[in-house]
Amino acid sequence: MKAPKFSYIRADSLDHALELLDKHGEDARILAGGQSLMPTLNMRLSQPEVLVDINRLNDLKGISLDGDTVVIGALTRHIDVMNSDIVAEHLPLIAEAMPHVAHVAIRNRGTIGGSIALSDPAAEMPACALALGATLIVQSSSGKREIPAEEFFHGLYETARAENELLVEIRYPSQKKDNVSVFMELARRHGDYAIAGVCAYGKVSGNMVEDMRLVYFASEDRPIIGENAVAALNGKAWCDETKDAVTSALENDLDPMANLHGSATMKMHLQKVLTGRVMDTAVTRAGGAS
Ligand SMILES: Cc1cc2nc3c(=O)[nH]c(=O)nc-3n(C[C@H](O)[C@H](O)[C@H](O)COP(=O)(O)OP(=O)(O)OC[C@H]3O[C@@H](n4cnc5c(N)ncnc54)[C@H](O)[C@@H]3O)c2cc1C
Repeated sequence: MKAPKFSYIRADSLDHALELLDKHGEDARILAGGQSLMPTLNMRLSQPEVLVDINRLNDLKGISLDGDTVVIGALTRHIDVMNSDIVAEHLPLIAEAMPHVAHVAIRNRGTIGGSIALSDPAAEMPACALALGATLIVQSSSGKREIPAEEFFHGLYETARAENELLVEIRYPSQKKDNVSVFMELARRHGDYAIAGVCAYGKVSGNMVEDMRLVYFASEDRPIIGENAVAALNGKAWCDETKDAVTSALENDLDPMANLHGSATMKMHLQKVLTGRVMDTAVTRAGGAS
């Protein structure tokens, strides 16, 4: 199918982009990598009047260190995040997750900001942002706002970002030296959106687990922290008994959505299996015996 008619405006500065968002409100869509937006236009799932192309806004691209914080511009392509030495060293969770984001051609154009702003429930980058306690910086013509990842993801493709705000950068605390991170997902084929997925980030000493955060994606309408699972996990030694307690507790955290890829029961089962696997791996990575 072909996209409906729309006007196209290429923003030549951040101020210009923000002015256009103010002017056109809900009739405007930001065009970043276009890897999700263009298919939805072609399938007529979205019919904006104006596309505001931000691809020339070079200030929104790049990866840098600001003390203990890794700053990633919203317009940074997935491929550049995947190949970044800063990300490999300071955000190993994202380095591990990025190869699971779609396919090479899509990663060459798609942007980390587009992925987080879109907030697909099965996407990897929103889950990583939540697991790492990232801060999302959004900007409108009235100024900037900082939104903790815990408050950003509201539901299916819904976020705390207002229509006239652009996501401009993501700030991630660098992984702490004594922390460990693990990313795992299950998809029918590599590069497909996940059917189930878990990010684990926290401290493991020997087999003892502390301050671990488990974030689940692809089963709910947004990435969520498994609060009950984490309560059953932290302060415990990782063993079969803890695994049983954590996976039972998970039933109080998740209410999986059935879809074409699987029933709610199957998704719950897969999230439990992944929980066991991520924690086995976390303990192994921390040097303990799983
Ligand atoms: C076949 C296929 C498979 C895919 N598989 C996966 C996958 O497994 N995992 C995954 O995570 N993604 C997957 N994707 C999506 C891909 O990662 C996209 O790159 C990403 O979701 C959107 O990034 P984008 O830069 O292309 O955004 P665009 O398509 O340009 O925009 C997406 C949405 O976000 C908004 N937006 C973009 N940038 C900003 C910003 N800075 N501020 C505010 N709003 C903004 C747009 O207005 C639009 O509504 C897949 C895509 C395809 C086509």
